[in-house]
Amino acid sequence: MNETKIENVVIIGSGPAAWTAAIYAARANLQPLVFEGEPMGIDGPGGQLMLTTDIENFPGFPEPISGPSLMERMKEQAVRYGTRVAQELVVDADLSTAPFRIKPNYSDELRAHAVIVATGAKAKWIGLPNELRLAQSGGGVSACAVCDGALPFYRDKVLAVVGGGDTAMEEALYLTKFASEVVIIHRRDSFRASKAMASRVLGHHKIRVLWNTQVIDVLGGDEINGIRLRDTQSGAERELAVGGLFVAIGHEPNTTFLKGQLETTQHGYVVVVPGRTATAIPGVFAAGDLIDDYYRQAITSAGTGCQAALEAERYLAHHGIGESPVVETAETIVDAPMDHEA
Ligand code: NAP
Repeated sequence: MNETKIENVVIIGSGPAAWTAAIYAARANLQPLVFEGEPMGIDGPGGQLMLTTDIENFPGFPEPISGPSLMERMKEQAVRYGTRVAQELVVDADLSTAPFRIKPNYSDELRAHAVIVATGAKAKWIGLPNELRLAQSGGGVSACAVCDGALPFYRDKVLAVVGGGDTAMEEALYLTKFASEVVIIHRRDSFRASKAMASRVLGHHKIRVLWNTQVIDVLGGDEINGIRLRDTQSGAERELAVGGLFVAIGHEPNTTFLKGQLETTQHGYVVVVPGRTATAIPGVFAAGDLIDDYYRQAITSAGTGCQAALEAERYLAHHGIGESPVVETAETIVDAPMDHEA
């Protein structure tokens, strides 16, 4: 029978959480293996930052850095210290017994003593061809006001926000700092958002709401200059001149391949021990936007990636692989069993 090699730690994902976890695990001599995804399409390696042009709020970069460059640099740093990278998606995993079973798309199944899941979340898009084109090119379409709203591109312009949930409210309020006017476009006649958030929005002098309205096209060549709208009741269409479009219609954590093996919140985010990255399965850690529906920032994602690697390192040390990065106390001790003999 073929002896399957058992990896120390497999990291699934390729955003800031995954690469930070890899940097830490590699520097701890754990020779991590990262599954970064397939190098094609909008779901390719690098996660949501691949759709971000200038990042001005990642510490250490006084000049703006593009999302793809930041991801490339993080990957380079991880590889420099011994991370191995597989350009494949993980399509299945069996987390019921350690060593866990990981099935990549093309190569053979492998096993791992510890797994860090950092597959992120996808912003939902309306699905218009020009929307995605201008989001990818930095032409004025974004799914994150906190990430992009402060860029000079959006200053003193009329900015549209699509959505009627708390995220749309939050993005609209944030954008009032920079925009000449914020127009919320919502497909129904009432918000889904909490009353408190909705009333702040409705009372704001810079915000106007277009109810019962859908965006049906994004206008402009290299840069957005307007959107085409349809009244959902009358069907009437018209154009609105805007200098930016923020799509805030929700996020979807990337957990499909886990097939329900990790507990999730009602919105699909993986549940971890509060303030930690440990899941309910000993040896399986989760980090980044996959566990975070609140901050969703590159830097917070990187932070939990670091936590996950340190927790995995400690877990492995406790089971005879490598050394623990911290002195264990009664509170931090990892007492979970690891079933090597499975
Ligand atoms: P959400 O609550 O699911 O709201 C999504 C909004 O987008 C809804 O208004 C929905 O319209 C609209 N929408 C969905 N698909 C659309 C489409 N294809 N075209 C046009 N509109 C579309 O998502 P969320 O706002 O991201 O919030 C997710 C969760 O996080 C919520 O529980 C929320 O309370 C929480 N959250 C909390 C805070 C906070 O407390 N500060 C901030 C952000 C998020 P319909 O209403 O017609 O369905």
